Formats: sequence, C-alpha cells, structure tokens
Amino acid sequence: MDIIVLEPGITELSIKHIIKKLESKGLKTHISHGTERTIIGVIGDTSKVTEEEEDAIRAMTGVENVVRILKPYKLASREFKKENSEIKVRDLIIGGKKIHVMAGPCAVENKTILFSIAEKVKSAGATILRGGAFKPRTSPYSFQGLGEEGLKYLAEAREKYGLSIVTELMDTKDMDVIMKYTDIIQIGARNMQNFKLLLEVGSVQKPVLLKRGLSATIKEWLMSAEYIMSQGNHNVILCERGIRTFETATRNTLDLSAVPLLKQLTHLPIVVDPSHGVGKRDLVAPMARAAIAAGADALMIEVHTNPEEALSDGEQSIKPESFTKLMKELKPIAEAIGREI
Ligand code: PEP
Ligand code: MN
Repeated sequence: MDIIVLEPGITELSIKHIIKKLESKGLKTHISHGTERTIIGVIGDTSKVTEEEEDAIRAMTGVENVVRILKPYKLASREFKKENSEIKVRDLIIGGKKIHVMAGPCAVENKTILFSIAEKVKSAGATILRGGAFKPRTSPYSFQGLGEEGLKYLAEAREKYGLSIVTELMDTKDMDVIMKYTDIIQIGARNMQNFKLLLEVGSVQKPVLLKRGLSATIKEWLMSAEYIMSQGNHNVILCERGIRTFETATRNTLDLSAVPLLKQLTHLPIVVDPSHGVGKRDLVAPMARAAIAAGADALMIEVHTNPEEALSDGEQSIKPESFTKLMKELKPIAEAIGREI
C-alpha cells in the first residue's frame, strides 16, 4: 500500500484521520494535490502492512482507492503523480512548455572568461549559466576548481546578465556555501550514489540536478532521485549525460532512449547533456537537436570562448558562435513537437 487516492471533496478532518492511522504504523506521508485528485503518498516500509490493515484503510471515509506500487521508487514514479512536475528555479519553470538551455564553461576559471561566456550565451537565448567551482577530476593533479571564489563569480554573473545558475556540490561539508550562491545544486555523475550527499540535498528545497551515474541503470538513477525526495525535496531534475559502454570512439554513449522511457516512468523533468555524452565538440549540436526531438525538457551544454585553452573539457566545449547557431536550429525542432525554446 503506497498510494492512497482520495475521493473528490474529502474533508480536511478525514485526511487528518487517514494520516494519523498511517503514522500509528510508523509510516510518513506526502500529500499531492493534483488537478483531478488529491493523493497521499505513503513513505516508509509498507511491506509490513497486512492485507487486513490495507482493507481497513480502504474502508475509511474519503478513501477512493489504495494502490500498491510495485516499483521500488514511489515518489518519483508516474503512478504517484500523473502530471509532469514543473520545477521552479527563480522565475523559470523547468518541465513546462518552454525548453531551457543551461550553458557555460565546464569550470569557472576566472571572472573575465566567465563573464564573457555568460554574456554570449545569454544573448543566444540560454537562461541558466553552468560552471563548476568544485570539480570532480579524474586526476588529482588537474585543476580542481576555484571553490567559493568561483561561486562568487557565478553569483555576480547572475546579477549582471540575468541568468540563473547551476553548479556542482561534491561534498556535504560545502552544502552551506553552495546554498548561499546557487539556484540549482548539481549532483555529478560520480556522486549519483553518494547517499549521504543525496540525503543532504533532500533536506532543503532548492532544485537538484541529478546527473546519471557513469554506469547507472535507469532504475538505480530513479532510486537516487527517491533518496532526495524521501527527505522532502521534490524539486529533482534528472540529467542524462551519457553512460559507459564498450564503445570508446565517443567519451560516453548518450542514451537518448532514456528520455521517452523516463517520461513514462517518472513525472520529473529531464535534461540532456550532450557535451559529456559525446565528449567531442562536433557531435554536440546534432545530439542536442536529437535530444529536443526525443522530448528533453532542457539541455546542458559546455561553451567556452577559447576551448583550446580551457582548464577542463575543452575538447567537448563549443564556441559561442556555434552555440548561437545551435540555438537557432533548435527552435523549429521544439516547435514541431509543441514546445518552445
Ligand atoms: C560537469 O557537468 O562538468 C560534470 C563534471 O559532469 P558529470 O558529472 O556528468 O561528469
Ligand atoms: Mn565538464
């Protein structure tokens, strides 16, 4: 018993009775007011609820139906919420009709470069500026990011160019400083199953961009979303960024089939990051176009004014001119499927 569908017009008092009953069994609840129905999501180990107890709840005033979800993720599932989740990021909505584009350098390198990129991606139509201040690098000798200094530059760029910002949190100890500056907290692929980090970002209400792990199945990925949501933060945005396969000709294999599949399995919005997905500059635009056609709610693209000199991921970063061209190409594709960009 995982979802309790309530009758239309149920009184607050009846809802309270139902919640009390569930709490007496050590379960927690989350109420979701949909357009047609209000439902109670039951959080906790519901496997111990007997059939008799389930029938008793079904018989309570105002209960229309009690549904068991067979999937291991509940709050993230389509069964739990039929309508697409729309995640508010300052004055933007991710998961609505408009497709948002997050663009910027892999890492914040210095203020001048960041501002120059921000200005260009903004005028091309991006609404969110990306840039890592804490970088998960394969080598301990590579540039690790500017830390708080980088976050400050991002926040200044937000004010100057009117862009929201997204940046990665790698360690629970940096939670306070990240919260101070960012609009979206990015959980990187390497940390998708860092459960302590997931619980930490679940305890706030700031939107979380949850990247797919390098070798994570869709089920594991949704279980990670569930970790965040189980703590009360339902503002989760999924990001497909390529997975590791036998193929080495591209950096990763961008799993675009994940997009329509996730639309069936979950109500959460999905972002596609073709830059990390392919790792090669020339392949970014075609895969970005394909991602929109597949139904992505947003894109994340690495842009750098001087990719040859970039301190990280230069090979997959496109120049602002290519980004501007791409944004124009995306428009008719979005319109063809009833969306806008
Ligand atoms: C990034 O966005 O720069 C990044 C490190 O991404 P990922 O975690 O997907 O590798
Ligand atoms: Mn990168």
